[in-house]
Amino acid sequence: MSRILFSGANLLDGENPAQPGQTVVVEGDQIVAVGSDESIPHRPDDKVFRLEGASIMPGMVQAHWHGSYRGLDFEPPPVGLEKPPGYLMLLAATQAKLALDHGFTSVIGAATGDALDAQLKMAIDDGIVPGPRIMASGRWFITTGDSNDLPEFAFWDIQAQGSQRYCDGVDEFIKGVRLEIREGAEIVKIFMDGGHALLHGSDFVSMTDAELRAAVDATHDRQKLIRCHVTAKRAILKCLDAGVDVFDHADRMDRECIDGFIASGSFVCPSLYLTKAIIATLSEYGDENDPMVIGLRADYDHMLEVLPQASAAGVKLMVGDDWGTAMTPHGDYIKELEVYVNEAGIEPLEVIRWATKNSGECMQMGGGLGTVETGKLADLLVVRGDPSKNISILGDPDNLLAILKDGLFVKQSL
Ligand SMILES: [Zn+2]
Repeated sequence: MSRILFSGANLLDGENPAQPGQTVVVEGDQIVAVGSDESIPHRPDDKVFRLEGASIMPGMVQAHWHGSYRGLDFEPPPVGLEKPPGYLMLLAATQAKLALDHGFTSVIGAATGDALDAQLKMAIDDGIVPGPRIMASGRWFITTGDSNDLPEFAFWDIQAQGSQRYCDGVDEFIKGVRLEIREGAEIVKIFMDGGHALLHGSDFVSMTDAELRAAVDATHDRQKLIRCHVTAKRAILKCLDAGVDVFDHADRMDRECIDGFIASGSFVCPSLYLTKAIIATLSEYGDENDPMVIGLRADYDHMLEVLPQASAAGVKLMVGDDWGTAMTPHGDYIKELEVYVNEAGIEPLEVIRWATKNSGECMQMGGGLGTVETGKLADLLVVRGDPSKNISILGDPDNLLAILKDGLFVKQSL
């Protein structure tokens, strides 16, 4: 089999600053050589691409993914029941392809109904439809009356669960986790408190300590990951204590939480663009004194201050947001990265590291994903220009000159 050889590349390996004049060689689904142009010998049958003025970097990972969300507003129907499952699967497939076309060669589920992630993953892996590598989520877990359990739900008497599974008590959490994993979930999603656009403020606690620990232990016993919507410091510390793997949002993290994230090696997905979008939308309608806006604004300002500290300290931050609301349409993915660079003042290289090395590690591929190194899976982007100088370059798919997943071209316009 002939190799694919990219030479003259500006290499962004997912870890280090840009290095010009580099060669990357792909054979099968793997990167088999990386080094300066002079140091890598060519073979006669290599398929060579000379990358003038272009960068090569790892495929990105969207680490908070709801594939079937589309146009959800402030009063959505029960999520996962907006449309029949077949329709939602078509949305999931279409939007997964959109993510791939934007350079996200992997996505990590953050909850879905009807096992859409797991079933779409099967179809993608079998070559039925194109799409990114998926770490599948299942339904999210809610307790009776928690932040997602809207008051009107009590009167609707809906039998189907949509994207949420009700659990109360340790035994129900254990059974629920096992059922989701049986349907294909590789990452379980629970809610520990409110905040971050949810009905209740972040002082609200959804789960008892015993329920939290039962969910975490039941997940880990089956060798899967567990992610938790959590915003308040008190709830973050409870989740750290219980062993949660991925912290969604963590808006009220402080130094003690940062130390905890580092000690535990857990991942944090801030999803800050949703907060920005809600503040902007509600303010536009004259609701800037709405308690939700005031709370979100305080959380947002706090995050702009604390995120650079968390990043500098080495917390494994990731990119990924609630795409598919009316304010955050799928495809706008770059806007989240721009918040971290333009508003929190974090270097583009660092945010690229979140989107590649950190989230690649979270994908649990035995260390094989997220950086451009010999022996890694060949998920690669060839990008016009240098995203470590201007992150916004990554927002225009026309700037993605090539996309490879598993060593195969998904796109090639070199
Ligand atoms: Zn979400």
